[in-house]
Amino acid sequence: MPEKVIVVGGGLAGLSAAARLAHHGYQVTLLEKAPKLGGRAITIPMKGFNFNFGAHAIYARDRSILRKFESEIHLQVDWKDFTPSKAYYDLGSFTTPMPATLEGLYKTKILDANNKVRFAYEIAKTLSSIERGEDGVLIGEYLENQPAQIRDLLLTVASSNFFTNESEKIPSPLFFQYYKRLFSTNRAVAYIGGGWQSIVEGFANIIESNGGQIITKEKVSKIEMEGNRVTKLIGKEGAKYIADQIIFCIPPKDLATLFAETKYASLFDEYNQYKPTQVVVYDLGLSKRISSPYTYIYHKQERVFITDISHYDHTCVPEGGQLLQAIAYLNEDEIAEGRADEKVAAIETVYDKHYAGWRDLLVAKRLSKKATVQEIKCINDQRLMPVKFYSLPNASFAGDWCQGEGQLSELSFTSAYEVTSRILKHSKTHPKENLAEAK
Ligand SMILES: Cc1cc2nc3c(=O)[nH]c(=O)nc-3n(C[C@H](O)[C@H](O)[C@H](O)COP(=O)(O)OP(=O)(O)OC[C@H]3O[C@@H](n4cnc5c(N)ncnc54)[C@H](O)[C@@H]3O)c2cc1C
Repeated sequence: MPEKVIVVGGGLAGLSAAARLAHHGYQVTLLEKAPKLGGRAITIPMKGFNFNFGAHAIYARDRSILRKFESEIHLQVDWKDFTPSKAYYDLGSFTTPMPATLEGLYKTKILDANNKVRFAYEIAKTLSSIERGEDGVLIGEYLENQPAQIRDLLLTVASSNFFTNESEKIPSPLFFQYYKRLFSTNRAVAYIGGGWQSIVEGFANIIESNGGQIITKEKVSKIEMEGNRVTKLIGKEGAKYIADQIIFCIPPKDLATLFAETKYASLFDEYNQYKPTQVVVYDLGLSKRISSPYTYIYHKQERVFITDISHYDHTCVPEGGQLLQAIAYLNEDEIAEGRADEKVAAIETVYDKHYAGWRDLLVAKRLSKKATVQEIKCINDQRLMPVKFYSLPNASFAGDWCQGEGQLSELSFTSAYEVTSRILKHSKTHPKENLAEAK
């Protein structure tokens, strides 16, 4: 009999974990409380436009774990590579190319001639691990002796990759680890044709075509335990689910509720107190394209970036249309003081400046004043949750709040990959060739 695995949560972490195990012959059931799969990686159709959360950008795509899902379980990904020469900074009185390529570095006005050489040297130091940061020192403090232009540029770049207004609070070792990976890739940013929906459907098809079961509108509201093993999950109307292994791909606050009546509740306390990375998202669906020299523009003072998603992914617009996405970062004070409305107004001024006339072409819009990009923010002493606790032998955990590589969805995928690798490795009922294939 194949081992039974239940995956709780149908976001990217749950879907990728379930798909990998189903592919390797496990009897998998995935339970998702919402009517649709995808979690935060959901695609919402509106008046002919497909709105995704985020630009569905995958960073360091040639080193992304999605490549492993492509080769190992045959996930289809329609990669749409970002054009770095179309990425600009808006510095108020002028726009200038981002130094994302050698040509961009040569042309950009964000650095003077001396600092361009220095910036190239800093990249080389990061790539060769000469620069690694220091435990206990935040990147803002670590970069204090750098020339102001270099420090400012590195912190600005980190704002976009970590989706944060507080990039100076990123731990310095994490900063250099992240950029070593990103700088060593040939394709730093890529989008996914068909948006998140294509990935969500891809994983769901792999699960179902390998005999797995997906149950939506099924909220797991209770667990039962015998000793340190989770033995039963209770769903809607008392439905009971039993499995050998359970992978919880639900955020720490939901885990705390599920384990509240067990002696393991305190395991999740720490991760439940941390703050998520939240942003304001304001996407526009336009009936006609407004031409522009850039597909990505970052307004440095307002801390707003706009991406022309439809330049890369034509499936998200009706014929001739345009889908623009703006994201504004909020710091902790701004979130606490509920200043999202100010950010909405700031985004509109940036749209007015770079996409004049958008109001007359507007067909549909999607505004979210409090979108959770990553459940646990990688700043200060906030720590990502382990994928496994010694005291819970048949439970594992995955999601963008768990330990893994990269940031954002890459954390969901890498943590899911790690827990499924452990299950495959310790499997009693599966032939070793599964493992060989998985390597
Ligand atoms: C505005 C925005 C922009 C983004 N841009 C990017 C980007 O460009 N690139 C990138 O890589 N990432 C991006 N992200 C991040 C990415 O969307 C997330 O990292 C990823 O979707 C998280 O997936 P997850 O499975 O870890 O968690 P979630 O999506 O939160 O999944 C958890 C799932 O568990 C379900 N659930 C919870 N409790 C229960 C229960 N008791 N029973 C059953 N089900 C339950 C939930 O309904 C949900 O479906 C962005 C996110 C946002 C919001």
